[in-house]
Amino acid sequence: MTSPGTSSASSPVPTALRRLDDGRIEITWSDDRRRVISPRELRDACPCANCREKRDATTTVPLLQVLSPEETRPLAVTGMKPIGQYAYSIGFSDGHDTGIYLFDYLRDLGRDA
Ligand SMILES: [Zn+2]
Repeated sequence: MTSPGTSSASSPVPTALRRLDDGRIEITWSDDRRRVISPRELRDACPCANCREKRDATTTVPLLQVLSPEETRPLAVTGMKPIGQYAYSIGFSDGHDTGIYLFDYLRDLGRDA
């Protein structure tokens, strides 16, 4: 597949964001690829230091899981803010908004639409 007019050196960037009726996020990329990601997938993949630590901890020590009232509610993406030309800061309905999702990282989440 060739894409005339675009430099192969630059990574694809999101050209459109849409929240689907079921709350999932659809991202259209500059190479015409479309990906759909659920809020839960995004949240579980949060790349911030806190979440990474938590994930590492739960893989080594199996802890009893606790559901907070926030966690029993359907999780929603409450905001996506571009950070420069390389990442999105994503906020969630559980109040967490410190994750910075690099485009390269975001692109591998979810599934093709
Ligand atoms: Zn996080």
